[in-house]
Amino acid sequence: MAESAPTARTKTVKRNGAGAYEVSADICVVGSGAAGMSAALEAAKLGRKVILVDGMPALGGQAVNSIIGTFCGLFSNGTHGYQFTHLIADDFLHALEKIPNALYYRHGPHTTVVYYDEVAFGRWVEKSVQAAGVTPLLGAILRKVNVDGRRVKSLEFATRYGDVTVKATGYVDASGDAALAWQAGFACREPEQNRVFGTQMVVLENIDEAKQPTREEISAKMKEKGEQYGLLRREGLAFIIPGRGVAAMNVTHVETPLEPLAASEKALEGKDQAERAVHFLQTEFPECFGRSRVRAFGFPGIRQTRWIVGRQQLTADDVTNGTRFPDAVARTSWPIELHDHSSGHHWHVFPEDHVHYVPLGSLVPADGDNVVAAGRCIDADVAALSSVRVMGPCIAMGAAAAHALDLAGSGSVHQIDVAALQKRLTDNLDRTDKPW
Ligand SMILES: Cc1cc2nc3c(=O)[nH]c(=O)nc-3n(C[C@H](O)[C@H](O)[C@H](O)COP(=O)(O)OP(=O)(O)OC[C@H]3O[C@@H](n4cnc5c(N)ncnc54)[C@H](O)[C@@H]3O)c2cc1C
Repeated sequence: MAESAPTARTKTVKRNGAGAYEVSADICVVGSGAAGMSAALEAAKLGRKVILVDGMPALGGQAVNSIIGTFCGLFSNGTHGYQFTHLIADDFLHALEKIPNALYYRHGPHTTVVYYDEVAFGRWVEKSVQAAGVTPLLGAILRKVNVDGRRVKSLEFATRYGDVTVKATGYVDASGDAALAWQAGFACREPEQNRVFGTQMVVLENIDEAKQPTREEISAKMKEKGEQYGLLRREGLAFIIPGRGVAAMNVTHVETPLEPLAASEKALEGKDQAERAVHFLQTEFPECFGRSRVRAFGFPGIRQTRWIVGRQQLTADDVTNGTRFPDAVARTSWPIELHDHSSGHHWHVFPEDHVHYVPLGSLVPADGDNVVAAGRCIDADVAALSSVRVMGPCIAMGAAAAHALDLAGSGSVHQIDVAALQKRLTDNLDRTDKPW
């Protein structure tokens, strides 16, 4: 036995208050998905002391841990559009371009989507957070928000190693479920009648790329034989990533309730659905999928659950009309992609020159002065949110949240100089050069 090895004689008992930690920062970001990582890295670039918290023991949110697999809404419509969102998007696109097969630009007939290797992207997030000096707090579930009037004073988290209190000047709610706004007692919204379904993503390995069927062939067969295989969703995609011999599959529709026991049950149902879809592909397209097997299930993919009541609600009409708001902070042209029925989704594509915008008003909770939401929990009606929750605009909203809190300092995000904010975000609002 090595001299310094611990011995069984070492004893310890829990003392009162042991394991309670307190940390402070200028900006605390809750949620490290596309929106939260962007907010944290951007705030750090501004010289702010940042703490980035996630309930999962890993960074990256759904982009990494649900294995989403493609960045959507990053480019304007048309086969070779211009890039809508820059800042950290430029950083990770350039970094992943250097890794063989980590990135693939699919210039489809409608727009460009970017396929990415989720493992490489996850490592990019982790290394970037470390290099930026952002303090990560992982496996930390928000369980209490202390509020004084219109200001959040501190957040309390539970971790397996003890409780942690975070005090900050400003807070970003990038939790996807408006966890911070909800626990602060701020008004929030949930879908009224039509639930929005989530999806269990699956990565299949050992596929034969050369024999891949077209999307249309898969869809037609799903419609014809879906019932026979017990498939709930009768459309969806297998994104075959060129050169990697793997496919990320998006072929289930799973309820994502906010009630904890039901959420757990549905998560397991999602995997059952996914296995049925894999069986369908293996049997109906044996040349491509016959020898495939599941390499990984993502964590449950959640689209829309609960979101804030902002100063303004983005509506489907705003999206369709391409309204440019005086306080616009993000843009995209991604279709309305509403997963509101179990067997499929509504898909409303916009013309080539279309752009729609996200106003700052839909990021700022009406009830709070030092909180900004970003990502899939901003204030939008169900159809509008189904477009602006894809990762391109989520990243842009994260950047906007960081800059808004930076400008607000110890004041109110409702009173910042919007022109100054937009000047900082000009690349995400007005740049139209093409990288091709
Ligand atoms: C199946 C599926 C497929 C999709 N496909 C695409 C696609 O191909 N391309 C695309 O661009 N977009 C796609 N989207 C949409 C997009 O992935 C998400 O909307 C986007 O990733 C949301 O990012 P976010 O940062 O807002 O939230 P999330 O990525 O959900 O991050 C929120 C984070 O907050 C943490 N959190 C939540 N509550 C708490 C709490 N109480 N305490 C502590 N931490 C908490 C979570 O652990 C999580 O990591 C898809 C979505 C789904 C579900």
